[in-house]
Amino acid sequence: MGVTVDIASLDAGIDEQELIEFTRELVRTHTPHEEGRGERAVADLLRAKFAEWDWEAEYFEADGRPNLVVTLSGGAPGPTLAFEGHMDVVAEGDPEQWTVDPFGGEIRDGKLYGRGAADMKSGVAAMLYGTRALQLSGPFPGRVRLLLLSDEEGMMTGAKAAVANGFVRDVDGVICCEPEGDEVCPISKGAIRLRVDFTGVMSHGAMPFQGRNTLPAMARTVLALEALEHTLIREVGDRPPLGAPSITPTVVRAGTPDQMNTITGTSALYLDVRTVPGVDHETLLKRIGQCVDTATRESGIGSSVTVIDDRPWVETASDTSFVTALVDAHEIVNGARPSLGGVPGTTDGTILTHYGEVPSVVYGPGGKWIAHKADEFVAVDDLKRYALTYAVAAHRFLHARS
Ligand SMILES: [Zn+2]
Repeated sequence: MGVTVDIASLDAGIDEQELIEFTRELVRTHTPHEEGRGERAVADLLRAKFAEWDWEAEYFEADGRPNLVVTLSGGAPGPTLAFEGHMDVVAEGDPEQWTVDPFGGEIRDGKLYGRGAADMKSGVAAMLYGTRALQLSGPFPGRVRLLLLSDEEGMMTGAKAAVANGFVRDVDGVICCEPEGDEVCPISKGAIRLRVDFTGVMSHGAMPFQGRNTLPAMARTVLALEALEHTLIREVGDRPPLGAPSITPTVVRAGTPDQMNTITGTSALYLDVRTVPGVDHETLLKRIGQCVDTATRESGIGSSVTVIDDRPWVETASDTSFVTALVDAHEIVNGARPSLGGVPGTTDGTILTHYGEVPSVVYGPGGKWIAHKADEFVAVDDLKRYALTYAVAAHRFLHARS
């Protein structure tokens, strides 16, 4: 690549103490997802930081929730690199499960604890301070865009609105700063959530032939879907690092509790389907529909399949230049090549890549498996390490492409 990076000057642009304190402040700013519109306090905190640095932010709402976009021009023509972070967090759950205040921002033994410490207020802080360091190090070609979005833990309305409002149209690559434990993840699983409704005829348990019981049809459906899952795995194989696709029944709704002498006339089965590259969602949905149809038709049970949510898998080639810039940056900062991993769930990157047609990669501070758990934490040392890696990655990508 031949781009020399003055690490010392990027490093000097990151005030580690300030970065740690800012991350703690973000964690202390309680933004429970399910109360809705909870990102507002975080957005205010970010806006105060932008004002301090003389950054102008564009603001838009998605479903009443705030989103912020900052675009910094380096002073010369060049490509655009985006960093993405979401402002919402999931609920803290049972406080009894925590050994610290989930919104205290406590630091103990080199770990910063709290809901969102990993997912993903540390990522948000690191991308801000990394970009600030790049800016302080002098002019650079192109632009850096920061996308601070809402509702990632829900329906990803912030990312959808960012695409609709044209904020990724001119972007060459997005780094999503979600916690992936030092893995660079250019690939993410897809997810489909489905509800299958079964309709029969309710009747007395003493006279079962007067009715049509939906439960045997549901049982046949579950078995047929299990067979379909095996077929699918045979067809597409195991796709490291993501693994195999899956079709998992997760919820059953049927009958009335304590009413064992009544045959249920309606029931519903919920499915959590996870896909990998190579699985066409439209075809898969057709095959699931056929399974349900075959399992129900002969017994005279009506059925319908409702798609609750459909998020595609995404795959960015690992030799895409902004991904290699990130891999190189990780090696420069940490002294070792990162492993290439996959995201088991979906992120805002899924939306930005699929609908915005911009390649994305996921890489950020915090462990992959600590997100959404009690005693969520991020290693304090990760904050500056990641901020610097983001700065180096942006520097290498923007300079290499100019
Ligand atoms: Zn997240």
